[in-house]
Amino acid sequence: MDFEFSPEQLAYRAEVEQFLDEHDDPDVFDVTRENMAQIVDTPKRRAFMKELGHKGWLGMTWPKEYGGSEGEGVYEYLLNEALAGRGGPQIGKGVGIIGKTLIAHGNDFLKQNFLPMILENDVEFAVGYSEPNAGSDAASMKLKAVRHEQDGKTGWLLNGQKTWTTSAHFAEWYWLGTRTDPDNKHMGITLMLVPLDQPGVTIRGIWTMGDERTNEVFIDEVFVPDEYVVGEVNKGFQYISQALDLERFTMFTYSPIQQRLDVLLDYVKTATRDGRPLRDDPVIRQQIAQLCTQAEVARVMGLKVVDETVKSEHDRSIPPPTIASSKYKLFTTEYSRRLANASMDIGAPGTQLRVRTEDAPMEGRAESTYRYTVIDTIGGGASEIQKNIIARRGLGLPKNF
Ligand SMILES: Cc1cc2nc3c(=O)[nH]c(=O)nc-3n(C[C@H](O)[C@H](O)[C@H](O)COP(=O)(O)OP(=O)(O)OC[C@H]3O[C@@H](n4cnc5c(N)ncnc54)[C@H](O)[C@@H]3O)c2cc1C
Repeated sequence: MDFEFSPEQLAYRAEVEQFLDEHDDPDVFDVTRENMAQIVDTPKRRAFMKELGHKGWLGMTWPKEYGGSEGEGVYEYLLNEALAGRGGPQIGKGVGIIGKTLIAHGNDFLKQNFLPMILENDVEFAVGYSEPNAGSDAASMKLKAVRHEQDGKTGWLLNGQKTWTTSAHFAEWYWLGTRTDPDNKHMGITLMLVPLDQPGVTIRGIWTMGDERTNEVFIDEVFVPDEYVVGEVNKGFQYISQALDLERFTMFTYSPIQQRLDVLLDYVKTATRDGRPLRDDPVIRQQIAQLCTQAEVARVMGLKVVDETVKSEHDRSIPPPTIASSKYKLFTTEYSRRLANASMDIGAPGTQLRVRTEDAPMEGRAESTYRYTVIDTIGGGASEIQKNIIARRGLGLPKNF
């Protein structure tokens, strides 16, 4: 495996960094939002992403016939890492999960209507898979869809509830998993695109300990015409699973980890306790050495996913890096929590002060990271689920339940 980026890739990274320097704005970039900085939730953040679209950076890996430039996935990786390192909004949901699924499986109507909007960043989506009794086991989703005719159109009538839908309170469209066949668990789910701003859709906020809002969404007698069904009826779970492979990787970038580690290192280099420099404490030195080693492991695991992605893009007989993505997601998100715990311990009582508190150790970043990283090991498939994937699909161990 080649760990080096090519001269073209390095030149692209430099171009991105320069663009970000020119667009530096605290309303767009905020590292204290940690991993949730990736959502495109304010007018300024939307305008910024629109500019990325005009640079041609939103459809870099899409086919040319849909307005893309057919570049390698490594360019999306470089862009997302640069954005994440500054706490900026990122590409992922629209370009990745929804755009790539529509390109692979969507009908002409959906492609013509949604793909140009995604490239221009004229649309935000919320992803609705989880329900009160369907989280890790997403295939248990129950939101009911039955055949229905309305205003001369055929389609589906929806009733039910979703929970934990991030972005529903500002997004225009809902990427929704529905139950179209109650008798077939995995082959009875259908994906649909549903406008969120309509009677019959009720959105209630849930505030997380990370100070970010997610939502529960109630769907009451909502009609969806057939043309808004994504791909084939009852094949939605297959599409969701394919897209989750992508989500695991793109949603959990490495650069914020390096950035938090640097904050901790700067603190350890300069802080004193009981009149003695922390950097002289042998226990802390060992802890820091271990954290730095593990950060390097996380970085290289990310590069391995990129490498395998590019190989499978070039040769469709090579499967996408499902196992490598799960390993990366598991290790990186668990590491994020270890790093947050260590920052809290090393900074001692002062780390309990809120982020941005003047004179707090590490400007309060330890406490914000501590609160925010809790979601990382849950969203996009909890750690236990990643371990199951590695055990079963990666190591061929039998299912134990
Ligand atoms: C802040 C936040 C934002 C989110 N945003 C979205 C979103 O936008 N869209 C969306 O659809 N969902 C979203 N989610 C939901 C998220 O994907 C689920 O929380 C996650 O899949 C876990 O499901 P659950 O909460 O139902 O927990 P459960 O599935 O009930 O799991 C509870 C515990 O049991 C463990 N467990 C479950 N099954 C197994 C198993 N087979 N083997 C071993 N252990 C197991 C889990 O790892 C976990 O520790 C969000 C969640 C949060 C907290």
